[in-house]
Amino acid sequence: MTRDGKLKNQIRADGKHVVVIGGGDTGSDCVGTSNRHGALSVTQLELMPMPPEQENKPLVWPYWPLKLRTSSSHQEGCEREFAIGTKEFIGEKGQLTAVKTVRLEWKDGKMTEVPGSEQILKADLVFLAMGFVSPVQTVLDAFGVDKDARGNVKASTDLLGGYATSVPKLFAAGDIRRGQSLVVWAIREGRQAARAVDEFLMGASTLPR
Ligand SMILES: Cc1cc2nc3c(=O)[nH]c(=O)nc-3n(C[C@H](O)[C@H](O)[C@H](O)COP(=O)(O)OP(=O)(O)OC[C@H]3O[C@@H](n4cnc5c(N)ncnc54)[C@H](O)[C@@H]3O)c2cc1C
Repeated sequence: MTRDGKLKNQIRADGKHVVVIGGGDTGSDCVGTSNRHGALSVTQLELMPMPPEQENKPLVWPYWPLKLRTSSSHQEGCEREFAIGTKEFIGEKGQLTAVKTVRLEWKDGKMTEVPGSEQILKADLVFLAMGFVSPVQTVLDAFGVDKDARGNVKASTDLLGGYATSVPKLFAAGDIRRGQSLVVWAIREGRQAARAVDEFLMGASTLPR
């Protein structure tokens, strides 16, 4: 941060054609921020077909309802494209100028590219918002911690010994332990982990759990 409150080397979308690859919540945040920076255009690309505006309740219950989600960021303005794949980043002299896209057809859960449907989309800035895979593995490997099947740090939330990793005196909480989640979970885990550390150091704790 510089003295005038600006971030150093901040990625800015001012006056740029922005393409956001990924139609989820993170993509939606990229759309909103780009608009507020003053982007010339914002286009969000989603691999999956456009979901219905209303979910089919009997079909999806008790699972998370599949329906079109339009956030306030989308309402502020952007092009939303569904069933579209990105084939190529195009540039001149090391500078991105466009992306090549292709239409997709989905049948029985499989996608195929529609022949001849390639398009060139102007792009000065591309955001990859294609999903959280796991915490950065090099950090976890440097610590030498055991991981769970999804590549998160393995640590339980049990009453005794909770949040302790496989490495002595190393505790983990929040997204790095449970995977991509929500602020409320990070707060809860942070508080519980603090108590677990206190118990480990002092033998008992009066901190709330
Ligand atoms: C784009 C986006 C939008 C989101 N929107 C929402 C939302 O609307 N509502 C919601 O509830 N949740 C949202 N989430 C999820 C939420 O941000 C996370 O669940 C939450 O921040 C996890 O908290 P955490 O403390 O576990 O990890 P983080 O908040 O990721 O904190 C980890 C910190 O560790 C620092 N760090 C990393 N490596 C090192 C190192 N080597 N040394 C020192 N520090 C290091 C990082 O810089 C970071 O500050 C969103 C997430 C993203 C990515």
